[in-house]
Amino acid sequence: MGVRRRPDTFTMRVNPILCDGFGHCAELAPELVHLDEWGYPIIVDGPIRLSVPAALDSARYAVRGCPRQALRLEYQRPARAESPGRRRID
Ligand code: SF4
Repeated sequence: MGVRRRPDTFTMRVNPILCDGFGHCAELAPELVHLDEWGYPIIVDGPIRLSVPAALDSARYAVRGCPRQALRLEYQRPARAESPGRRRID
């Protein structure tokens, strides 16, 4: 049994099959989404720290506002610190 670590970053992903390319997400989260020349979203490279509440609020707003449900958030947990007592030495 281990300690359950809380997520500390998130990444916003778009499903290109579902996306209609009308670009509502860029209006809802302009700091996270830019549009390519055809109007399809280009999401800023993640991960984004959860300690930036404005970014998370914008991302959630865009996910909720996407008419095709093509956006989703993935939360990442911090990397596991290796215990020095159990480190393997080869
Ligand atoms: S709002 Fe959704 S469907 Fe519209 S461009 Fe953005 S990801 Fe695609």
